[in-house]
Amino acid sequence: EVIKEERLAYLIEEKRIKAVTLVFSDLEGRLHMLDYDKKFFVKSYDNLTFDGSSIRGFTAQKESDLRLGIDWTAFYWVPADVFGPGKVLVFAEVIDKNGDFYIGDLRGVLKNFAKEQFEKNGYTLNAANEIEGFLFDGVEAERTFHETGVFEYVNKGGYYHSLPGDPLREFIDTCSEIQRAMGFENEKDHPEVAPSQFEINYTYGDVVTAADQIQLYKLICRQVATQMGMTASFLPKPVTGVNGSGMHTNVSITKNGKNLFYDAKGQETTSKLGWTFIDRILTHGNDICLLLNASVNSYRRLDPHFEAPNQIKASATDRGSMVRIPIGNEKSARVEVRSVGPDANPYMVLYTVFKTGLDGEISKMKNLRQAERYLPDNIYTALEDFRSATWTTALLGEDVKARYADLKQASADRCPRLLGTVVKACEVQFH
Ligand code: GLU
Ligand code: MG
Ligand code: MG
Repeated sequence: EVIKEERLAYLIEEKRIKAVTLVFSDLEGRLHMLDYDKKFFVKSYDNLTFDGSSIRGFTAQKESDLRLGIDWTAFYWVPADVFGPGKVLVFAEVIDKNGDFYIGDLRGVLKNFAKEQFEKNGYTLNAANEIEGFLFDGVEAERTFHETGVFEYVNKGGYYHSLPGDPLREFIDTCSEIQRAMGFENEKDHPEVAPSQFEINYTYGDVVTAADQIQLYKLICRQVATQMGMTASFLPKPVTGVNGSGMHTNVSITKNGKNLFYDAKGQETTSKLGWTFIDRILTHGNDICLLLNASVNSYRRLDPHFEAPNQIKASATDRGSMVRIPIGNEKSARVEVRSVGPDANPYMVLYTVFKTGLDGEISKMKNLRQAERYLPDNIYTALEDFRSATWTTALLGEDVKARYADLKQASADRCPRLLGTVVKACEVQFH
């Protein structure tokens, strides 16, 4: 409430602010943006309705009236040279007729889960995502791919290395600068292993902030790339034969500043809670794969020859395993889920990882952590696993589960079952 009053007062007083950009995400994680004139917004912010039937994965026609609630804590000052002058950006939550968080808006689902079950009792769910992407030549590289069948690299340097004037380096520098201006606490950034690939790391945050930051990260990268005449792509595997792009998801739980995943005497200095969390994720590895790898193209990436996981196991060192335990100390101890694509819905990813790790079942299988079990290697298998799992119903409810499966089925149906060895235009959708 205090934050709300402060920010409202700021909006009213700050003459340079002309508009408020409200953002929310659909079921597949696409970001939607609406600009409200500031004067109108200040008068009407508690009664902003919209037609949900035109948003993919949202309501059916007959129940299409939804409201946007303002999350005053997720309020961002945005640099004018990237977003246009005189705006602030605020995350909205989608509210249904009864005033509850709308079930198709995973941001609300995630927030509710984190707040009601954990924050109220003093626990914080933390996440840090390592988001990799490619920078390609041309502003519409993903669209042009449909005609040319190729992505053009832009950089001349290599891993951790860039030459003066390298467009990839300039791009990374500009993005980092904008992130800093928007309150990200940056840590490091670098050209990644594949040509023209980048990764910009920033510090962890509570789950909702972390998911919002993923949306902002991608938005900033796309915007900057476009201004430079290029395209930032978050396709998991745009080019075969080189590394793909992952979104490794690092998670931990703290209480009163104490990291509950850490135990100096535990196996891999990981606590019992940490290991239980891992065991639940491994148990449901197949069930939840479609939620973490949400596109046809994602399944090309899951190949251990390119530092991406294909095995449902846990390891401190093996980058081919779904879960890794990075070396950590009391502060940085965490569980890294590696089998996540950067084009998945970030709210869905964090909700799935935490809910599964905390409330899932634990298989009685011997050797669960090291067993020879594999992630699906194509979206059709992932769809079958997702549909037949009782866990995914518990996770999402029948309605949202069915809608999500239908959307993914539709994207799978646009591609042939056997894709061959080069990326096909049918895989290059949306991101
Ligand atoms: N690009 C790799 C992946 O697809 C990850 C490389 C790394 O460990 O940073 O997951
Ligand atoms: Mg990396
Ligand atoms: Mg990593």
